Amino acid sequence: MDCIVAGGGAAGIAAALTSAREGLETLLIEMEGGVGGDLFSGMPVLGAFTSRGEQCVYGILTELEHECRKLDPDAWLGPVCDYRTVHGLCLDPEILRLAVYALLRRYGVRLLLNTAVTGVEVENGSVRSLIVHGKNSRRQISCACAVDATGGGHLSAMCGAVVRYGSEQREFQPVSLLYRMCGVDFEKILSYVRDHPQEAILCENPVLPADQTEAALRLYRNGLPYLALSSHSQLLSGALSSGRLHPCTAAFITPTSRKRREVCMNVTRVSGLNCADEEALSGTLPQLSAQVADSARLFQELLPGFAQASICSIMHKIGVRESGRIEGEYTLTQEDVLAARRFDDAVACGCHHVDIHGRGTDQVRIPIPGGGSYHIPYRSMLPKGLRNVIAAGRCISSDRGANGTVRVMGTCLDTGQAAGRACAALLQNKYRDFRQVESRALR
Ligand SMILES: Cc1cc2nc3c(=O)[nH]c(=O)nc-3n(C[C@H](O)[C@H](O)[C@H](O)COP(=O)(O)OP(=O)(O)OC[C@H]3O[C@@H](n4cnc5c(N)ncnc54)[C@H](O)[C@@H]3O)c2cc1C
Repeated sequence: MDCIVAGGGAAGIAAALTSAREGLETLLIEMEGGVGGDLFSGMPVLGAFTSRGEQCVYGILTELEHECRKLDPDAWLGPVCDYRTVHGLCLDPEILRLAVYALLRRYGVRLLLNTAVTGVEVENGSVRSLIVHGKNSRRQISCACAVDATGGGHLSAMCGAVVRYGSEQREFQPVSLLYRMCGVDFEKILSYVRDHPQEAILCENPVLPADQTEAALRLYRNGLPYLALSSHSQLLSGALSSGRLHPCTAAFITPTSRKRREVCMNVTRVSGLNCADEEALSGTLPQLSAQVADSARLFQELLPGFAQASICSIMHKIGVRESGRIEGEYTLTQEDVLAARRFDDAVACGCHHVDIHGRGTDQVRIPIPGGGSYHIPYRSMLPKGLRNVIAAGRCISSDRGANGTVRVMGTCLDTGQAAGRACAALLQNKYRDFRQVESRALR
C-alpha cells in the first residue's frame, strides 16, 4: 500500500481523499463501522470561516460543500454567524455523510472498517507495516507511509513517538453526548432571543457588533437558530440551581435542517475525567444519556419553539474533546495562535478561538485578534523520531491552549489535506523522510 491513513474522522477523510486524488494507492482504516466521526454529528464545521466571515479553509472542504449542494440544494444552510464569536459552517449531517461517501468512491479510497490498528513494524524510525485487528481477522499490511489521524496520536505512540495528554495535571476537557431535536419552531426561539438578548451569549468578539440588542436582531434576521443560550439565563438558571439541568456553560444550538426543523444540541457534559482511560470514559455513558433525556424534556417545557420538538438522533459515541497530542518538530503554542503568527512552513490555517471547556459551567474562549487566522506549520505535523509517519487533525503537536483551537473540524480537514499532499510529495520524489518534503509544495 502506498499510504495508510489510520482513523476516519475529519482529518483522516481529508488525508485519504487527497492522497488518493494524487494517485496514491490509499487505505483508510477505521475501528468503527463507518467513517466520519464527529463530522456527521450536526455540529457546525468551525475553523473554516473567520469571525469576520472570511473563508480560510478550502480544498476538500470546498469539494464537500459542492457535493452537498449538488445532492440536495434545498438542504444547504452554509456559514452562519452566531453573533457571539464565530461563523460556523452549518450542514445537514446526513447530506454531508452522502457527500463524503461520494468523494471516497470518486477518488477510489479503499476502506477497512471495524478494524483497529493495534501494532506496527518499525525500522530506524520508518514504519514498514501496520498490524490490524478486525472482528474476524488479524493481518499485517505493508505501507510506504502512514498518516496518524487517530485523534489521539495512537499510531505515533505505537511507533515510539512521544504523546502528551491533557494538562500537566492530567486534566481534560469534559466529554459530551450530542443529540439532535426535530420539530423546532425556529421563528419562536429566534424571536425570544431578539426580545431577550441577555438570555444568549452574544458580542464576545470585538469584530462583531458590540450591542446585544443589535446582535440578537441580526441573529433573528438570519432565520437560523445558531446560538448559545446561557445556563445562567432566566430560562435555564432555575433548572441549573435546582439540579434539573446538569452544570454546563450553555445550550449550544446549531441548525441542521430547515425541512425537518432540526437542530443539534451540544449541552451534556461530564468533567474531571481522564479521557485516555477507556474504562472511565465508558462509565460516563449512563450519566450522559440521562442528561440527554432530562435536558431534552426540560427544553420541551422551557424553551420557546421547543414544545413540539422531539429527539430524532443521539450520537452513537461519546464525544471526546481532548486526547493525546504528538510531540512534533515544532509545538504550536497558545501564544502563536493568539499572535495570529505566520510561519514560513505553513501548510494549513486555523481561526477558531482558544476554546477550552472546563468543569461546571466554565469555558475559556479567547478570540484570535482582529477576527483573523493563524498559520499551522508543517513541522507541527511531524512526530519527532519518525520518518514516514505524519500526524493530522486534533493530535498535531500543540500545547493545550493551541489544541483548544486546532481541534475543530475545519482545521482538522485542513491539516488532513496537507498530510495527504505530503504523502504524495514523499512518494513522488522518492524521499525517505517527511522532513525532505518542501512545505511550499503542500500549500
Ligand atoms: C462535544 C464536542 C463538541 C464539539 N464541537 C465542535 C464544533 O461545534 N465544531 C467543530 O468544528 N468541532 C467541534 N468539536 C471538535 C471536533 O469534533 C473534533 O476535535 C474533530 O472532529 C477531531 O477530528 P479528527 O479527525 O482529528 O479525530 P476524530 O474525529 O476523533 O477521528 C479519529 C478516528 O480515528 C479512529 N481511531 C482511533 N484509533 C484508531 C486505531 N488504532 N485504529 C483505527 N482507527 C482508530 C477513531 O475511531 C476515530 O473515528 C467538538 C468535539 C466534541 C467532542
